[in-house]
Amino acid sequence: MTQDASSSRRDLVRGLAVGGLAAGSLAGGGPAAAQPAPGASASPSLPLADPRERFPRPPFPAQSQPWPALQSRMTPVPDCGETSYRGSGRLAGRRALITGGDSGIGRAAAIAYAREGADIAINYLPAEQPDAEDVAKLIREAGRKAVLIPGDLRDEAFCARLVEQARDQLGGLDILVSNAAYQHAQHALADISTEQLDQTMKTNVYAMFWLAKAALPHLPPGSAIIVTSSVNADRPSEFILDYACTKAANEAFVRGLAKQVVKQGIRVNGVAPGPFWTPLQVGGGQTEQGLRQFGTTTPMGRPGQPAELASVYVELAAASSSYTTGQIYGQTGGVGWP
Ligand code: NAD
Ligand code: MG
Repeated sequence: MTQDASSSRRDLVRGLAVGGLAAGSLAGGGPAAAQPAPGASASPSLPLADPRERFPRPPFPAQSQPWPALQSRMTPVPDCGETSYRGSGRLAGRRALITGGDSGIGRAAAIAYAREGADIAINYLPAEQPDAEDVAKLIREAGRKAVLIPGDLRDEAFCARLVEQARDQLGGLDILVSNAAYQHAQHALADISTEQLDQTMKTNVYAMFWLAKAALPHLPPGSAIIVTSSVNADRPSEFILDYACTKAANEAFVRGLAKQVVKQGIRVNGVAPGPFWTPLQVGGGQTEQGLRQFGTTTPMGRPGQPAELASVYVELAAASSSYTTGQIYGQTGGVGWP
């Protein structure tokens, strides 16, 4: 490395540290590295790299799986930061419940949170047990507690039980990541059955309400609620109308609830991803053509990998973001957002 390259890398790393973003959180696909002890800071080891060249680009191989898809069976397997995310104690002692924490974006948040020092409960569907066990192993390897609570979020009573069990087993709760979602592409409005509409609404909207309602009485001041929305909230794809409506609801909820619960010292924020390479897309979330060309239309020319979102979830949960509430953080590969 030349001296210029080496000093600009030091500047970048310094900038990230000042900005509160863990340097390791931006690494992608590198060789496995030993994790620091929980709470310890890690030495940064990120080389400067062109973001367009990092991670796979379309076209992607044709593939589909029955819903809910497993990420271990995807080609390529999504990168959720398994070998790259390094923590620096930003969430030491925190306790998080993450829905959809088995795979994709929720899995990236779970890995990052554990490596930042938090204990984690994840929820997922029983069919996703293999993905969930992978995540639990990674959480435990980071020296943190992993609690696995499978179950269907379309059931209000289960949502209440989920929060209660997470709180009991973690010894409290101060981060809720409402991230699970259902997305099923249809070419025409006429093809969206009432059954599908119901599943999309219940999973993406009702569960968000039920989980927040159940959690709020128990969240101490300083807690954070984070909801995963989508760029579809305002720029809906023509193929996922029902899903897009739920994502708009996610953002209205974030902005309204933030005003209400700031009075309890609780912050509420949203994350609005563009195209990310996750099981949601191969389990019916995209048309065949859409999947093959996934991410092509972004200025970056490729989809994001969940690992590239992890630091946003950490940032929104961390105590250092104490003035951040009612915000939606876009991560869209270059489409200005929101
Ligand atoms: P993913 O498939 O890895 O995660 C979705 C999870 O939702 C599943 O793992 C599953 O556990 C959970 N889930 C679905 N129905 C459920 C139910 N009835 N009960 C319990 N759990 C259920 O995919 P992902 O892309 O990481 O999705 C995470 C979030 O990101 C979602 O809110 C999604 O809308 C959002 N998002 C994804 C993209 C993308 O391109 N992948 C873009 C914008 C927003
Ligand atoms: Mg999954």
